Amino acid sequence: MQRDSENRVLRTYIGLGSNLATPLEQLRSALAALAALPQTALVAQSAFYISDPLGPADQPRYVNAVAALDTELAPLQLLDALQRIELEQGRTRKAERWGPRTLDLDILLFGDLQLAEPRLTVPHYHMHARAFVLYPLAEIAPDLRLPDGRALTELLAACPFAGLERLNRSETVTSEG
Ligand code: ATP
Ligand code: CA
Ligand code: CA
Ligand code: CA
Repeated sequence: MQRDSENRVLRTYIGLGSNLATPLEQLRSALAALAALPQTALVAQSAFYISDPLGPADQPRYVNAVAALDTELAPLQLLDALQRIELEQGRTRKAERWGPRTLDLDILLFGDLQLAEPRLTVPHYHMHARAFVLYPLAEIAPDLRLPDGRALTELLAACPFAGLERLNRSETVTSEG
């Protein structure tokens, strides 16, 4: 069981992204799969955002969101579960870095844990510079601080909203929905 020093279940933040195979549906399915994880509760989710792709420009724009989970899973157990969800939703791994994908689930933060292992680095190494992570995260955790003490508000002030578009609820209704 994963508890902090005060014996509380740990809060973790997950970054979701998709730019293939009806991205909004991919994110909705992924949120349902996160909620269904054992020893884990989905406690908050941001709005959906459209963002410009990192890396190769010849790919569709992304839909992104951030979710907050309370979990008793260990960090690597959570990573295993996220990678299983990615595979179940048709994620294939290609040589190309930051290529298009049906689903990407990144662990942004895991309580106050700081970890640098081959399979898992937390906080996520580049979250501090990604608008498509910071703005959705701020919706659900405006007072957040990173384990190194930096406030999310400081990071936002240094990260322009450029390239990002927040979807209203009415814009997320799809024909498949
Ligand atoms: P980026 O990490 O820059 O967002 P990406 O999400 O496209 O790029 P992936 O191909 O999805 O990268 O993941 C590569 C590897 O990163 C995974 O196999 C995983 O073991 C590792 N990894 C390290 N830290 C994390 C983390 N915090 N969350 C998810 N995966 C991580
Ligand atoms: Ca659950
Ligand atoms: Ca990623
Ligand atoms: Ca990833």
